[in-house]
Amino acid sequence: MKEQLTIIENTNRKPRLADDQLAFGKQFTDHMFVMDYSIDVGWHDPRVIPYEPITLDPAAMIFHYGQTVFEGLKAYRTEDERILLFRPEKNFQRLNRSSDRLSIPTLDEELVLSYLQELLRIDQDWIPTTEGYSLYIRPFIIATEPNLSLAPSGTYQFYIILSPVGSYYREGINPVKIFVEEEFTRAVRGGTGMAKTAGNYSAAYIAQQRATEKGFSQVLWLDGVEKKFIEEVGSMNVFFKINGEVVTPKLNGSILEGITRLSIIELLKDWQIPVVERRISIEEIFQAHEEGRLEEVFGTGTAAVVSPVGELTWNSRQITINNKQTGELAKKLYDTLTGIQTGKQNDPYGWTVEVEK
Ligand SMILES: *Cc1c(COP(=O)(O)O)cnc(C)c1O
Repeated sequence: MKEQLTIIENTNRKPRLADDQLAFGKQFTDHMFVMDYSIDVGWHDPRVIPYEPITLDPAAMIFHYGQTVFEGLKAYRTEDERILLFRPEKNFQRLNRSSDRLSIPTLDEELVLSYLQELLRIDQDWIPTTEGYSLYIRPFIIATEPNLSLAPSGTYQFYIILSPVGSYYREGINPVKIFVEEEFTRAVRGGTGMAKTAGNYSAAYIAQQRATEKGFSQVLWLDGVEKKFIEEVGSMNVFFKINGEVVTPKLNGSILEGITRLSIIELLKDWQIPVVERRISIEEIFQAHEEGRLEEVFGTGTAAVVSPVGELTWNSRQITINNKQTGELAKKLYDTLTGIQTGKQNDPYGWTVEVEK
């Protein structure tokens, strides 16, 4: 049942920064979407209201036990001024899987997608027109019941906020230096690694900070049990091209199921490039490099789309990949995906969803 969406217009519009002044996730649009949940009524009272601070009881459960989930996707403006989303239904399906893991009530995926489209129509002037820029969309759910008991909250709020963002690659794609993390663990099987939930990210800061201090741009996460098998790089999924074949870690419950990852697997299959999802040990990668078979390494995610890895450091061993140059395959995947997302290239897979204005 579609409940009437309330719209309260913001009469106090914010000045917009010039596109080249945008920093990631620091400026937000004039409106936001909110919906409430209570056990008796379920999800109710969907509304688009002026972007404003949230007032919560200090005992709200989100502050104490981290019962929260989020998503991240983008809206792109095409050259002919259309607005496109990339596989947005997958984001809301994943939001529900994250919610299930965190004992948060799930949402009607189609309904929330229609509410997102309404919010985008209202704030459409905020979608940057400059090439390479887009509007980052952050849906999230928080537990709001004031209660210090260790049990799931009885009330929640679902929000969507929007932030105009710049291109990840201002100075072109530069392959990055990666530190293989052996001390800290991002996630373990049976934990929350497959969910986009706050604690996974704050728990990763310490490893990221130490890697940054040592001059690396990201860490490569190994499995939490044996510290042998590759999971992800930073908050991206990871791919290796070895001897013409593309391999990526198989989903195991601790790896986040990226939509970019899925799309890349589907593209490679369509291009008839061999692609395999399986366990990959870090030793295997260094071995393949030694034998001259490691051709490319790249991370994938909504923010950067494809991010080539130029160097890997594992304890005292360090390898250089593809002469620190962006590989041919990484480049082709980047061009194809961004081409489809921005409407520059046609979309034979039906991945894009147009937001009617
Ligand atoms: C969001 C995320 C990804 C990438 O997912 P996309 O859907 O491709 O953006 C990968 N790993 C982690 C840990 C993430 O949070």
